[in-house]
Amino acid sequence: MPKKYASATEVLQSVFGYHEFRGHQEAAIAQVVGGGDAIVLMPTGGGKSLCYQIPALLRDGTAIVISPLIALMQDQVDSVRQVGIQAGFLNSTQTTVQRTAMEKALRAGELDLLYIAPERLSMSSVQDLLDQCEISLFAIDEAHCVSQWGHDFRPDYLGLSILAEKWPSVPRIALTATATQSTHQEITQRLHLDKAQHFVSSFDRPNINYRIEPKDSGVKQLVTFIRNEYPDKAGIVYALTRASTEKIAGQLSDQGIPALPYHAGLDVKTRHDTQARFLAEDGLIIVATIAFGMGIDKPDVRFVAHVDLPKSIEGYYQETGRAGRDGDPATAWMTYGLGDVVQQRRMIEESVGSVNHKRNLSSHLNAMLALCETVECRRQNMLSYFGEESQACGNCDTCLRPPTQWDGTVAAQKFLSTIVRAEQHGYPWRQCWGEDDLPHFGSGHLVDVLRGVETDQVQRWNHQNLSTWGIGGDLNASQWRSVVRQLLARADVALSNDGHSTLYVTDQGREVLRGNRDVPLREDVLRKAGAVKEKKPKQAPVPVDVSEDSLELFQALRQWRLAQAKARGVAPFVIFHDATLKAIAAKKPRTLEELSTISGVGETKLASYGEAILNACQADVNSTLLQSE
Ligand code: ADP
Ligand code: ZN
Repeated sequence: MPKKYASATEVLQSVFGYHEFRGHQEAAIAQVVGGGDAIVLMPTGGGKSLCYQIPALLRDGTAIVISPLIALMQDQVDSVRQVGIQAGFLNSTQTTVQRTAMEKALRAGELDLLYIAPERLSMSSVQDLLDQCEISLFAIDEAHCVSQWGHDFRPDYLGLSILAEKWPSVPRIALTATATQSTHQEITQRLHLDKAQHFVSSFDRPNINYRIEPKDSGVKQLVTFIRNEYPDKAGIVYALTRASTEKIAGQLSDQGIPALPYHAGLDVKTRHDTQARFLAEDGLIIVATIAFGMGIDKPDVRFVAHVDLPKSIEGYYQETGRAGRDGDPATAWMTYGLGDVVQQRRMIEESVGSVNHKRNLSSHLNAMLALCETVECRRQNMLSYFGEESQACGNCDTCLRPPTQWDGTVAAQKFLSTIVRAEQHGYPWRQCWGEDDLPHFGSGHLVDVLRGVETDQVQRWNHQNLSTWGIGGDLNASQWRSVVRQLLARADVALSNDGHSTLYVTDQGREVLRGNRDVPLREDVLRKAGAVKEKKPKQAPVPVDVSEDSLELFQALRQWRLAQAKARGVAPFVIFHDATLKAIAAKKPRTLEELSTISGVGETKLASYGEAILNACQADVNSTLLQSE
């Protein structure tokens, strides 16, 4: 269809109602509008969508957006339709009738944008269909899915190399929020984007406060965090297993905190309903496995909590990035303990796959563990992992409450030598019992030995005769667990592959035993686990940036928005973001002209909602006048 706009700036302002471009948006858009290829690496919330939506409105033909997020296509389409873009999607959730209608609209050139799932591109019928249309560009969203070593690999993405072969003259733009250099390279190679211009943004998300705390009371800790800091706000809790998401969601609900589980084992309808409720409601919490979240563009998710250790920094950073897309303060909160390290190490040991694959998993996990145990700025650690240099941030737990280190060398030597001695002590059994019946000594037992605690297992193996028996009375059990966790995180000890979490000393650990390596440990963990329980400082409430005299109008506008969203069957933020409503409430515009200057109010939204908003503003002014009379 003929294009109505002359420049990218005009589209930005008239269609989207935004005042200026962010970061690399303008340059990336110019590259694609000019017919070139682009690779865009921007953090979540950075504004990737505009990089293909604006070219779609400036170039002739239909832009094809390839996205793995079938469940979200409807929302994406709703969202762009709200600003007046002609859009649709083709995927397996449609009926034949719906699909045929969409194909007809596409052939007739009625669409600016068409979202399709990657697997459809391998169908010859779809290829024929595209051949009959004018294509303005291909946008490959979530392009990191092409990376085989990555956490979101989708085999169908490998097939996308066909775009370059079959439609060489159509510009392509690949977008992702995954920033590692290896992923970047894989995207370039596998999608044949060797001539593309690269737009790499800073991956910093300064409004997110990063915190990693020692795990002690499990769900209670989570409840305290939510109650103290984000009551009635939307958040995502990530847990490792399907069963634990259900359990935690149940426990939160029992405590009066609305929460729903989400995982791949639930049927499609339940998942869809849960997602729709999360988008539509204000204070709902989703407890999910990693199956939830990619492409969730709810702007006002106030926190992301991890109650289990993530497998990699890539995954962790992307998951936490779902908090605070609107730029308002948000928190990435995680609890982490010895059990997490044991579990993750064991999962790698037991995983099927090549040695290379295991090594790859281990190196991802080690980087994650180093982040958990660092005494330096968390953000600096993560950004440097992505190849970006930065200063200490002032908005993470280690910056705000710097942990001190203590010399854990002697404690480490005591623990490591207990492992060695218990193993040697068990040696005679090996000869009479055979390998399968060998005793298994996990960390709990070894700590009992160090602290001189008489248990059945101690008696059974006569471990009160070990020379390290009772030499660890200077630390209590949880302090020892902290030591063991850090040793395991640093790979001074390892788990054997016997399915019983038996520990053994690694080569690195032997260096510690020989006195060739020091073992600095985090003291904050120790202090926290100490006999005198430290009272947690109460966090300052999240600042509310709505002034008192605009609060009432802001609340009224939110009510109005909710009613509109229900009536139209879309998510509230699709109509206006909180930031836009806040600006309206502060400015209290009297004319459409005034309203149109507010960020987020484009021409189509002005036409659809302008009058209603002016009425709400007028009603607010009237009631204020009444009150002051
Ligand atoms: P991403 O896909 O990179 O995670 P989005 O494209 O969803 O991010 O953009 C995040 C939010 O920022 C969206 O609500 C979008 O409308 C808004 N946004 C994008 N670009 C701008 C801009 N130049 N000015 C104001 N808001 C913008
Ligand atoms: Zn910091």
